Amino acid sequence: MPTPYPHLLAPLDLGHMTLKNRVLMGSMHVGLEEEGGAFEKLSAYFAARARGGVGLIVTGGIAPNRAGQAKPFAATLSSKREVRRHRNITDAVHAEGGRIAMQILHTGRYAYHPFAVAPSRIQSPISPFKPWALSGRGVRGTIDDFARCAGLAQQAGYDGVEVMGSEGYLINQFIARHTNHRTDEWGGAYENRIRLAVEIVRAVRDRVGTDFIVIFRLSMLDLVPDGSTWAEVLQLATAIEQAGASIINTGIGWHEARVPTIATMVPRAAFTWVTRRLRESGVVSIPVVTSNRINSPEIAEGVLARGDADMVSMARPLLADPDFVAKAMTGRADQINTCIACNQACLDHIFQNRRASCLVNPLACHETERVALPAATPRRIAVVGAGPSGLSAACVAAERGHQVTLIDAAPTVGGQLNLARRVPGKEEFDETLRYFSRRLERAQVTVKLGQAATVDALQADGYDAVVIATGVRPRMPRIPGIDHGSVLSYVDVLSGQAPVGARVAIVGAGGIGFDVAEYLADARTAGQHHPDIAAFMAEWGVDLDGWGRDSDPDAGLRGGLREAKAPTNARDLWLLQRSPGKLGAGLGKTTGWIHRSALRKRGVHMQSGVRYERIDDDGLHISLDDKPQVLSVDTVVICAGQQSHNDLADPLRAAGMEVHVVGGAADATQLDAKRAIAEGAEIGRKL
Ligand code: NAP
Ligand code: SF4
Repeated sequence: MPTPYPHLLAPLDLGHMTLKNRVLMGSMHVGLEEEGGAFEKLSAYFAARARGGVGLIVTGGIAPNRAGQAKPFAATLSSKREVRRHRNITDAVHAEGGRIAMQILHTGRYAYHPFAVAPSRIQSPISPFKPWALSGRGVRGTIDDFARCAGLAQQAGYDGVEVMGSEGYLINQFIARHTNHRTDEWGGAYENRIRLAVEIVRAVRDRVGTDFIVIFRLSMLDLVPDGSTWAEVLQLATAIEQAGASIINTGIGWHEARVPTIATMVPRAAFTWVTRRLRESGVVSIPVVTSNRINSPEIAEGVLARGDADMVSMARPLLADPDFVAKAMTGRADQINTCIACNQACLDHIFQNRRASCLVNPLACHETERVALPAATPRRIAVVGAGPSGLSAACVAAERGHQVTLIDAAPTVGGQLNLARRVPGKEEFDETLRYFSRRLERAQVTVKLGQAATVDALQADGYDAVVIATGVRPRMPRIPGIDHGSVLSYVDVLSGQAPVGARVAIVGAGGIGFDVAEYLADARTAGQHHPDIAAFMAEWGVDLDGWGRDSDPDAGLRGGLREAKAPTNARDLWLLQRSPGKLGAGLGKTTGWIHRSALRKRGVHMQSGVRYERIDDDGLHISLDDKPQVLSVDTVVICAGQQSHNDLADPLRAAGMEVHVVGGAADATQLDAKRAIAEGAEIGRKL
């Protein structure tokens, strides 16, 4: 059968080895690496992705020595006794017919410990530890440690290694003037600053011989001031190939860059043009891999078909669905559980020192623990509420063999996902709705929409158990004048049901307050967003036109940056909270800064420490430091949190039925889609 993805599924001949397709699972630290005895869990995690057809897996970063660890006790591979644990992984992947390379990561000044080292003693903005400048001997020792680590990886059965040279880690710190102020043979002129990268690749190749993959992840767009120029990128790529690399992978943006590179508001495949310009330059002949926000087989196929790269790297999309490739291969792309690029259960967990998982796939990184076994006795189960928790519960229970009916008063499934999908940059929730709808069909869940469940009807239908997943309702605070005609809830606004004025105050600056602010500030029509790569690059100051094209490579700013263009704001907006301190403090660690920055760019007034006095025809009356003020707005939108919506559980229990309450219906505090989907899946497994 002809495939719609001929480029994606084409084998890639590396000389000594042929990869079965063009999908590289990008390196991603998941937190299992450091859990005691967790190499079995890690093996199961990788084996699932190998079984799912990934061409080449790259592990999360493993440090070549202690100084290079991301944090104390982070995984290293520096001695023979560590080899056996890695064998578990490579054996498990090979047993599934997969290929796996180990990433060697030296974090340099990004390390979260006092032994951090760097080219120069310059602290990074994202670590509290000031690094020590490596001595010349220290640099030589580091090169040896990379080579030793690669040799040990080969002994452990890996098919290759990836040398992490981008994202602002140690090697990248040597390359950029931004962080390398040395005056010895490792600093100063560009050929000195790239010497560490080149010598590491050469030493690794010498150690492992020819029949072993050596990937170099090269920062093609630093997105920091005083980063590399395009001419320097080309010079480095040439030298890396000559030093013996088999593949060059694309790195976009240092971790400290203030340009979003992978979050959901980044358009899909937004950065593959960078890899294409390297390819078009003709300076390298080895395969190049492109990366960032590629999350569907269609997007990946398009990227490869137009020649942007030889392979695509996807990391989070394979957390979301280990069977991504197998589904694309077998005509089941409509069943792919698509990564929505939220970072909420993967990167944000890692930054909180928690094991990663996935918002849309709670099984990720818990392959041996959250197993859904077939039901011992199939039962008739009603799930009331077709939001994320209800969808998740219904699918898991039905897949285990239960006879499940999903009931919702709304005319469509999805609950609050239908609101989230209308927020600019959150269009990916459409994929989640598509995925669950398809899964419901396949699991043969009976779906009854447009009908409110009642105690009498549930009893009369004789269900063995009822899952209450009726979610939340907006909380309306007791502000005098809350019934004034200018007041709307976030549901009124995001559902597009109510007209909103040109001057708006938003009461509450949690995740939903920010969402509403972005929705109202955006000039485009809700639900019809087509994130545009050129507009995104202009807004965030990325040199799309000049980078890789400029005849004068030193023109403009280094690192691919240029002056950002302020986006237009559709309204005059105030985003308010009572608590002191910065707004959005509870937003995700990896995305909160983006939301704050996006609103600042749109001129949204953000105010904390507010006391709400009353709402009347003049607008919203507030006090700041006990000084009264009137915000003369024509609309006040309430985003002040939520309350559980659960009128059915007690009467059903009183009627003698087995009842389980999940998601927001059980506890509205800090409810988000991650908790809702995970709790739904958990009850689905237990029924
Ligand atoms: P939330 O994060 O709890 O925020 C509620 C906001 O309302 C706070 O700013 C709070 O600030 C204010 N508030 C609470 N009680 C109030 C009262 N009585 N009067 C006036 N203001 C009051 O809740 P949410 O925004 O509804 O979000 C719900 C969940 O969804 C959260 O877990 C959130 O993280 C998640 N979510 C996440 C995202 C994301 O992008 N990651 C997006 C949407 C939602 P003060 O008390 O300081 O005034
Ligand atoms: Fe993607 Fe969000 Fe899952 Fe991370 S948590 S893999 S970003 S869907």
